[in-house]
Amino acid sequence: MSDSCSAPGLLPFDSALATMLAQISPVTDTKTLPITQACNYVLAQAIDSPLNVPNHDNSAMDGYAFALASFSESKTLILVGRSMAGAPYQGKCQAGECIRIMTGAKMPDDCDTVEMQENTDVNGENITFVNDKLLGANVRNAGEDIKQGQQVFSEGHRLTAVDIGILASLGVNDVEVYRQLKVAVIATGDELKLPGQALNEGDIYESNSFVLSAMLNKMHIEVIDFGVIADDFEAIKSAFIKADTQADAVISSGGVSVGDADYTKTVLDGLGQIDFWKIAMKPGKPFAFGRLKNSVFFGLPGNPVSALVTFHQLAMVALTKMQNASPLKRTTLKVKCISELRKFPGRMDFQRGLLSVNQQGETVVKSTGSQGSGILSSLANANCFIILPAAQGKVSAGAMVEVQLFDQFL
Ligand code: AMP
Ligand code: MG
Repeated sequence: MSDSCSAPGLLPFDSALATMLAQISPVTDTKTLPITQACNYVLAQAIDSPLNVPNHDNSAMDGYAFALASFSESKTLILVGRSMAGAPYQGKCQAGECIRIMTGAKMPDDCDTVEMQENTDVNGENITFVNDKLLGANVRNAGEDIKQGQQVFSEGHRLTAVDIGILASLGVNDVEVYRQLKVAVIATGDELKLPGQALNEGDIYESNSFVLSAMLNKMHIEVIDFGVIADDFEAIKSAFIKADTQADAVISSGGVSVGDADYTKTVLDGLGQIDFWKIAMKPGKPFAFGRLKNSVFFGLPGNPVSALVTFHQLAMVALTKMQNASPLKRTTLKVKCISELRKFPGRMDFQRGLLSVNQQGETVVKSTGSQGSGILSSLANANCFIILPAAQGKVSAGAMVEVQLFDQFL
């Protein structure tokens, strides 16, 4: 999705992202947590398996174990013992003999094959086998899932619920993880009211801080919610100063463009090293990034779609690096676009698309309709971004386009 064409005065998307990432330092503080509390944390250590999983050859079926080579012409073996899960058979199993075995029970040393009980006729101690057997059938081999010493997770891996199960199955109690990040979220605007408050003429309900907090929570980041700050120089300044002392990163939305009430720039000029960019992306052109005294600052545009897209495509990538987590893997596909897409060359577009499979079994994408940067429902109805390079003009129906599937954070 890189593109060399940039409109005059606009910073190409890839340059903005690279400049930002170059200035991000990952957290270094770690702590030890029991695995019951470690879900969603980022590992500060690689995990090598202390054992084979499974740690012994065992049966995949309830049935009978025997040595295939010692099977004689006769299809009947004599039952000489049993091996239960947690209570292995300790004796010998010689030619012509078999052992009753349960799922998960250790394979007796002399046996290599298991037949399921449904394919046997049982007559006292005489077990008759109905089918031909394959060497090693129905046996799960030691280490076939994970080998002792094998790296199971790398440093930087974010632990999922499944991973917690794997750690438990390895007998791992505690893991070393990076500490959680704290991020302050600030909405700016005199017109913004919170749900539950009455709207005066010209007011709207604030949504950016709710979207951002929800996404930050999904990233396992602790949110410090500063609510709505009025378009007032002193109010914005004191909120930013307070946020900077409490958080690893401060994220504001609104007030970064050039309107009469856009104080963010003047406030920040005195508080840190902040660049105000016009990024060649749509939605989202105005974007501020830099350092306050103690924290990293992201100034998102106010329009809800622009705030969300710039957060998802830029700030989230930076915060992931700050968490010390492995880079996000976002899935992109080339698919046929079945609607015409409006676009002028100059900016990279993140249009909202709906990917589906048509009656011919072909994966196709269409626009979710009006793409205005204030229309949050264009995102709610979408399941992917249609990413159009800056130089691209309008797209005719039937053309191939690149889509990026929505990830688990949206
Ligand atoms: P601004 O960047 O402050 O000029 O805001 C651009 C547009 O986004 C205006 O229509 C604002 O009312 C709207 N807006 C700004 N902040 C928010 C917010 N937190 N939630 C919803 N809309 C917002
Ligand atoms: Mg505003």
